[in-house]
Amino acid sequence: MTRSTVPSSRQRPALSADRVAELVKRGVAGGAGLVETFAPATGVKVADLPQSSVTDIETAFDRARVAQREWAARPLAERTAVFSRLHDLLLKQQREILDILQTETGKARAHAFEEVADVAINARYYARTADGLLKAKSRSGALPLLTTAREVRHAKGIVVVISPWNYPLALSVSDALPALIAGNAVISRPDNQTALTTLWAHELAEKAGLPADVWQVVLGRGKDLGHELIARADFVDYTGSTATGRTIATQAAARLIGCSLELGGKNPMLVLGDADVPKAAECAIRACFSSAGQLCESMERIYVHQDVYDAFVEAFVAKVKAMRLGAGLAFDSDMGSLTFQRQLDSVSEHVEEARSKGATVLAGGRARPDLGPYFYEPTVLTGVTADMALCRDETFGPVVSIYRVDSDDDAVEQANDTAYGLNASVWTGDTAHGQRIAERLRAGAVNVNEGYAAAWGSVDAPSGGFGDSGLGRRHGAEGLLKYTDVQTIAVQRWLPIAAPPGMSDEIWSKTLTAALWAMRRLGMK
Ligand code: NAD
Repeated sequence: MTRSTVPSSRQRPALSADRVAELVKRGVAGGAGLVETFAPATGVKVADLPQSSVTDIETAFDRARVAQREWAARPLAERTAVFSRLHDLLLKQQREILDILQTETGKARAHAFEEVADVAINARYYARTADGLLKAKSRSGALPLLTTAREVRHAKGIVVVISPWNYPLALSVSDALPALIAGNAVISRPDNQTALTTLWAHELAEKAGLPADVWQVVLGRGKDLGHELIARADFVDYTGSTATGRTIATQAAARLIGCSLELGGKNPMLVLGDADVPKAAECAIRACFSSAGQLCESMERIYVHQDVYDAFVEAFVAKVKAMRLGAGLAFDSDMGSLTFQRQLDSVSEHVEEARSKGATVLAGGRARPDLGPYFYEPTVLTGVTADMALCRDETFGPVVSIYRVDSDDDAVEQANDTAYGLNASVWTGDTAHGQRIAERLRAGAVNVNEGYAAAWGSVDAPSGGFGDSGLGRRHGAEGLLKYTDVQTIAVQRWLPIAAPPGMSDEIWSKTLTAALWAMRRLGMK
């Protein structure tokens, strides 16, 4: 049986009612009633959250249009300075946001800290690199010496960020930062369950010097607000399920606005025959069970070479059984609670269906209501076959299946047998070989000898999905430039790009043909 820490019901409360009320006031909301939110780990009520009406949304956009013009006109150095300060304030004031994150999601404190680190890293990265990314760039002109061309970046205007509940600080703030730095206004719609997290970050950004109305937070269910927000946005950034991503892409396409979609996954980990088994087993704990597996990058399938299969399974299962469950407001547990009843239901359904069709549960496989309403043990199965939902559908919980493979080719083929393509992990003693295997995997990120943190934390490189896992990228240059419109300004000097006065079109075309040949020979074009 998985061990537990202090029962969640006996832990210190994270926030006073006054503090909750103070944060709630920051939302542009009030016209559409109240929604109650509850802490998943304890079942205790957290907030009465006012919901935004269509009028509230219109007001937010009107204010954002005015604020955006002034914000975009400021020197870039002033804009980036706000986010350098946000980085510092966040690291200094992390205790309160760790408490809020844990209260709203039910996750372990170590997993909440991943979010703090993510926002700090992205804030610094874009504050440091925005100048190089956004400054106008010279491009070669149509005709050497006669034409000059420059590429100029403009903010899109108002970016809508619709974020889910599983990594609420990272996914609502780290995607908003580059949009703001690029000179946009942002209207965020966090999930109701985790709205206080975004409202806390909003307060922090204003303390760091972000002017009022440049970033606003509207509150409400995605199904109620999504259409209204997309109808007014200049760009949409969405993180969530593939099914909702398709709906959002359709709405954005009808308006001919861009969108970036970070969607689901069914991520594979490959343990090759030469892998360091104890290290792979240790890392698999983080790779499979961070935030109770409610992590888009989480590993849900492990393919293990037959030479190391028994050793890996034995080491991994022993570590899973030793995990400490709890969501106390301290660094004293290895995994927390699921966030909703619907998550508990879908996790239980996947495991029970697999069990009833003959899969073997090696660890976990049951809910733990003694710890809190939605706790579920970290679970490991073998004998999972293609007729079980667990094999192909995203579980989005603390459940992983292990499969024996007889070669690297077998592992690659099975890993790629999915419509998703978000993240993958390869374990090997030969990192050059690992990189060659990585290039054969259909996934937007592949971590060699890590689970997800190496690729995710490399924010200078793009992050996103192949296939059903998404469209567009966050992080790196793409993560900022997607929030801009690019313009080409070309200047023509001395002669037109046409027959000069007195020259026939025929002679002009011959002259241009000769010039094109000459430039080809000189390697100029
Ligand atoms: P979901 O799509 O049901 O909901 C996600 C968010 O979208 C919620 O906040 C919801 O309110 C909102 N939403 C729902 N319908 C909407 C609509 N029509 N318009 C606008 N917003 C709408 O997904 P979920 O099951 O709650 O979240 C988990 C999913 O998110 C998983 O599939 C997971 O893999 C994915 N996810 C992906 C990433 C990534 O970076 N690729 C990160 C986190 C989560």
